[in-house]
Amino acid sequence: MTRVPATKRTQKSLENLDESFIHHLNHTLAEDSASATTLAKYFALSYAIRDLIADRWLHTKSIIFNRRDLRIVNYLSMEFLIGRLLYNNVLNLKIEKHVEELLEKYGLRLEDLIPLEEDAALGNGGLGRLAACFLDSLATLGYLSYGYTIRYQYGLFKQLIENGYQKEEPDDWQKNGYPWEFPKPEEAVVVKFFGRSEVYTDENGWLKFRWVDTYNVIAVPYDIYITGYNSEIVSVLRLWQPKAISEFNFAEFEKGNYEKAVAEKNFAEKICKVLYPNDAFYQGRELRLMQEHFFVSAALQDIVRRHKKRYGTLDNLYEGEVIQLNDTHPALAIPELMRILLDEEGYGWEKAWEIVSKTIAYTNHTVMPEALEKWEAPLLQHMLPRHYQIIEEINARFLKDVAEKFPGNLQKIVNMSIFEEGHIKKVRMANLCSVASFSINGVSQLHTEILKQSVLKDFYEMYPEKFNNKTNGVTQRRWLLESNPPLARLITEAIGDRWITDLYELRKLEMFLDDTSFLERLGAVKRWNKERLAKYISEKLGITLDVDSMFDIQVKRIHEYKRQLLNILHVIHLYNEIRDGKLPEVPRTFIFAGKSAPGYRMAKLIIKLINSVAKVVNEDPVVSKYIRVVFVPNYNVSLAQIIIPAANVSEQISTAGTEASGTGNMKFMLNGALTIGTLDGANIEMLEEVGAENIFIFGLKADEIEEAKRKGKYNPFGIYMDNVKIRRILDMIRTGYFNPDEPELFVDIFENLLYGKYAPMPDQYFVLADFESYAETHKKIEKLYQNPVEWNKKSLLNIARSGKFSSDRTIEEYIADIWKSKKVYE
Ligand SMILES: *Cc1c(COP(=O)(O)O)cnc(C)c1O
Repeated sequence: MTRVPATKRTQKSLENLDESFIHHLNHTLAEDSASATTLAKYFALSYAIRDLIADRWLHTKSIIFNRRDLRIVNYLSMEFLIGRLLYNNVLNLKIEKHVEELLEKYGLRLEDLIPLEEDAALGNGGLGRLAACFLDSLATLGYLSYGYTIRYQYGLFKQLIENGYQKEEPDDWQKNGYPWEFPKPEEAVVVKFFGRSEVYTDENGWLKFRWVDTYNVIAVPYDIYITGYNSEIVSVLRLWQPKAISEFNFAEFEKGNYEKAVAEKNFAEKICKVLYPNDAFYQGRELRLMQEHFFVSAALQDIVRRHKKRYGTLDNLYEGEVIQLNDTHPALAIPELMRILLDEEGYGWEKAWEIVSKTIAYTNHTVMPEALEKWEAPLLQHMLPRHYQIIEEINARFLKDVAEKFPGNLQKIVNMSIFEEGHIKKVRMANLCSVASFSINGVSQLHTEILKQSVLKDFYEMYPEKFNNKTNGVTQRRWLLESNPPLARLITEAIGDRWITDLYELRKLEMFLDDTSFLERLGAVKRWNKERLAKYISEKLGITLDVDSMFDIQVKRIHEYKRQLLNILHVIHLYNEIRDGKLPEVPRTFIFAGKSAPGYRMAKLIIKLINSVAKVVNEDPVVSKYIRVVFVPNYNVSLAQIIIPAANVSEQISTAGTEASGTGNMKFMLNGALTIGTLDGANIEMLEEVGAENIFIFGLKADEIEEAKRKGKYNPFGIYMDNVKIRRILDMIRTGYFNPDEPELFVDIFENLLYGKYAPMPDQYFVLADFESYAETHKKIEKLYQNPVEWNKKSLLNIARSGKFSSDRTIEEYIADIWKSKKVYE
């Protein structure tokens, strides 16, 4: 296929962008330019840009239905944390100059319109942001792809901090409307729930099953076209919204049953009311299972319909489509596809199973037991009786294979069975995925090794060929080009702009390692970003920051395993040192941000502790000269784009063996922060890339933690008794030093560390074990910061060697090893 350069396609329509803007303002919004609000102008501009994107979609669509040699990637994910789209689209379409000129005529600047867009926060954290980066990379690289998820009415809650406590508010992200989506009601499908599985004999005398007496809901797709940089190909993010088949039942209304008259509508509306706000934690709620089935069933019907349209048969579904499961949340894709093939398309079990197991691949995102999905069998059986029956059959056939492969080994059967027996029988979704998928991947080298050696060990022995690693990545379009304009400019001036689509190009920056003027300019860029953040914090929180101080930043979901507690304990240690007259050599600002799950007691208490320490530190006239602590509320993608570029130091301090990969770590590295981190997740690969002199590694290693746990030999109480510094810090927490009004408030943190009051063991995340090593490493960082040339050199090296951590690299690996798709244009 001959290629029309993407710029040409844009150029033609660009000539009309001014007209288009006015057209949308006058006719789509019925406003005139004199009296229209800035918000209306934001919408008009977005609609004008959306028109350019719609052209790309029509082009992409024609390829989808004309090129049967291209396999389509389907990324099924409960979360897509896409953030704002206006500036992202402007950059990807390369129309920034044009848009600026257009807006100038109306006395507007792009930077005034950008913040008017609500973040689409359809995700919790890393897992959802990964899915968003993947669609960006797929479109940029020119692969055909669909992301499937739910159109949540309320995205992840908005976080307020009141009196140091997290407070949640609903995120009604569509309250002003949303310009980037296209409803496609003609492509709606029906999703079924409940009912029962009925056996019957078909016209050929075969025994068949059908799912009957179901409760049905319509699923309506809303499409967001995700642009790629300088690419004509868009990815489709398809959000499914439930709708009642009959919104109003007149018969019931006539009988005086108003509740019954609107029951269907209420049912449909509640399914996708809200995103579950847990990150890396499983909560077995009926409504959550409904959400999972709802979007998976809609997606599968969509994929099947498209494949039939392209090929006229499902025999070769796996040649035209591949389905990647982002964690086990969409695992019901397995029985749902089996059901469609068996019950609706007339396939026999063997062929149906072949199709399913050649189409579906699984990404594991965590090894922490509390995050593994295990649905209660009776719940699943009640909501999805036919799926349950299919899972039973999958399991029966699988266990026969296990018994053949490991004769007489009952333990293997117990470990690998999809069902966990017990008082209440459970369905282990990771086992279901491992049985049915042709590929099982972890998201960093360490994580994949841990999967093979512990969590999925038996599956690895059974199917070693299925296992592979795909280290996560982030898109440099959003996390450098968009979020850090002065750094992007500096880099492009130095080495050209090819890094935007080939991040390994950044290696060329090593030429400037001894160029003091370049290092100074790099320092000036960091300063600009720190000033931008300081301005934001000053405006939002009324706190003044010293931009000469070292910005030491930990932003991510608040979770015990991520150890914000270790960070704040260390801050208390510095506070004590200063009070003792041991003054630090460089002033430091410790910045925190992140949301806790609303029901996660410990995490919420840690937020309160951070804010309590912040108050004491910042209000102390002596201490606040040397250290300051800020908790920035409502961490989300837009805020990350302001915070991350301002970091001198990136805190990646999870207990070794707990963070599957991390992607925040990569964003910081790309923006020139130096990392203090454990040998966990992708930190290990960052160390490999950047070299030990350019990253600050501390703490126990994953195998050491593992061993200490296994042998039960970890004794945090001993550390408390032996280590004066630690005892002093913990006693301050226990006795209410930071919270004199309510001195008992943090006793639970103390008791959890020393006695494991709310955990399987004392200090289960080894905070005290790693404290000394962490504090010593911070001293080294402090030393280095006093030498700006050396610091900036290491900062430059971090940027120059971050090429591996582009999601473009990750996607090319998925393509080569799992998806085997081809680019539209070779
Ligand atoms: C990147 C990102 C994350 C993931 O951060 P980790 O440090 O890897 O946990 C979470 N939330 C947002 C908004 C992000 O942009």
